[in-house]
Amino acid sequence: MIKISKWKWMKGQICDGMVELLFPAAEMCPVCHQEKSESSGIGRNCLQKIALITPPLCLKCGRPQRLEVFNAKYCQQCLVTGYYFSQARAVGLYEGLLREILAELKYRYRPELGQVLGKLLIEWVKLHREYHDPNLIIPVPINTQKLNQRGYNQAELLANPLQKYLGIRLGNDIMVREKLTESQNALSKVERFLNVKGAFRVINTKSVTGARILLIDDILTTGATASEAARVLLRAGALDVKVLTVAIGVMDAQWVENIEDGGE
Ligand SMILES: [Zn+2]
Ligand SMILES: [Zn+2]
Repeated sequence: MIKISKWKWMKGQICDGMVELLFPAAEMCPVCHQEKSESSGIGRNCLQKIALITPPLCLKCGRPQRLEVFNAKYCQQCLVTGYYFSQARAVGLYEGLLREILAELKYRYRPELGQVLGKLLIEWVKLHREYHDPNLIIPVPINTQKLNQRGYNQAELLANPLQKYLGIRLGNDIMVREKLTESQNALSKVERFLNVKGAFRVINTKSVTGARILLIDDILTTGATASEAARVLLRAGALDVKVLTVAIGVMDAQWVENIEDGGE
């Protein structure tokens, strides 16, 4: 019996090796490493675990709304907050597997996940013609200190594949984040807006003048970060700022406990 199971184990090893030869690492799902990746860059099983955003949603901030209470164009949050971006959209809900992937990307040095999530953004844009309109793509910048700690700006990794797909200029030299903002974790909604105020500065006004900008970030929670970046870009002469993020947090009474680090 022992001999047989040992043989089976060895056979298993050989088969695994063959699988790797047939499907090199690049074609395996980079999230679970257990399935073949699809054209979106992620495997089918993992993709099914992501809660994609579906209507009804707020036309401004893109937050999904509960059908029974939503019969307006805009959500309650947008009615009280004057967001500077013209619209924001996200691919999925900030929960479950997507939340785990984003944490890996931000805190565990997994740049390949940025590439994969960037491909998800492409798949989303393919279905949304209004997002073909921008002529400049800007990843929300992070502070230099954070950049050095993390090794990359995750928003830039997300923007790269989309920039190639849309064939528009990547503006990673247009805006800087000067203020090392306090971590957004423990802040209330109002405090988040104040915390991020004055965080960005446009250093290349010429490129921004008259531009239709697509702002890319990993997560949209209160929208404070994206709105402040949009405000600064519009003041510098941009015509329009649209936002696209991988995930969006749904705000409720527990929102402070449920969300992390608001887009940094
Ligand atoms: Zn997978
Ligand atoms: Zn809204």
